[in-house]
Amino acid sequence: MTASIIDGKAFAATVRGKVAEHVTRLKTDHGIMPGLAVVLVGEDPASQVYVRNKGKQTVEVGMNSVEHKLDADTSEADLLALIDQLNSDPAIHGILVQLPLPGHLDSDLVINSIDPAKDVDGFHISNVGLLGTGQKSMVPCTPLGCLMMLRDHHGSLSGLNAVVVGRSNIVGKPMAQLLLGDSCTVTIAHSRTKDIEAMCRQADILVAAVGRPEMVKGDWVKPGATVIDVGINRIPHPTDSAKTKLVGDVDFASASEVAGAITPVPGGVGPMTIACLLANTVTAACRANGLAEPEGLTA
Ligand code: NAP
Repeated sequence: MTASIIDGKAFAATVRGKVAEHVTRLKTDHGIMPGLAVVLVGEDPASQVYVRNKGKQTVEVGMNSVEHKLDADTSEADLLALIDQLNSDPAIHGILVQLPLPGHLDSDLVINSIDPAKDVDGFHISNVGLLGTGQKSMVPCTPLGCLMMLRDHHGSLSGLNAVVVGRSNIVGKPMAQLLLGDSCTVTIAHSRTKDIEAMCRQADILVAAVGRPEMVKGDWVKPGATVIDVGINRIPHPTDSAKTKLVGDVDFASASEVAGAITPVPGGVGPMTIACLLANTVTAACRANGLAEPEGLTA
């Protein structure tokens, strides 16, 4: 292996440490206790695990964590009423509605009912527009985590060729916007892209957010490039049929022979996502109180 490993687990711990410092400062200097409300509708097992982890880490950095667990058949009106209540609660600085929502609920309507200033997932249409026009916004957590790791590794990203594989609203598109904001030359590839391998080989920064296990092979990677693997895919274990294994969208074995730096799965982008949710919550608490934003925790 030639690539250096970008350790997302360690980086996330550093981010959480910075968040905790800011939380202490907000409490002691200003009497402000940042609060994050997470709303979970239904009993999707993966969502329950995410919500539990979010709550635990929120408390660990010293913030107030509020969880609202609603039945799977909760009506849209009841969910909107809860969001309304959280929007007007001054003790709540961040609101996250865990996705996916049950089919009878309109996700866009629900997300767009969150006060944009409290939209710590960065999915509200106002935040999407602000990010797209280079204005101050709440930035989606996963791409924000990727950006932080890239800035840390490269310093300036200006002038680098970036290829983002995947054009989802939660990862691919905001990732491309953030890289553009840092003056990369950005290409977005997707399922209809022609000769995607050749396109990826142009990339100084290659971000894979596809949801296809180990799709990006070593010969797609430009020698020395930085590879950010957003993918989280569970596949059958190669040697033990009773087990499964987590892999990314990048074939780590071959890509790490060519890349200059690479994020592993697990332990790369994944841990950064919750760390950035906490960062966004402390940012929202600062903004809500007209205080300077924490340095290094925003885009
Ligand atoms: P998504 O909404 O399913 O989007 C996948 C994107 O990949 C689409 O734009 C799709 O193109 C593109 N794609 C699919 N097959 C392709 C192919 N063969 N060649 C090129 N592009 C292809 O997925 P997502 O929500 O962005 O998530 C992507 C991955 O990241 C998943 O593995 C997910 O679990 C993971 N993820 C991880 C985190 C984290 O915290 N680390 C957070 C979010 C997501 P089209 O638009 O043309 O269909």
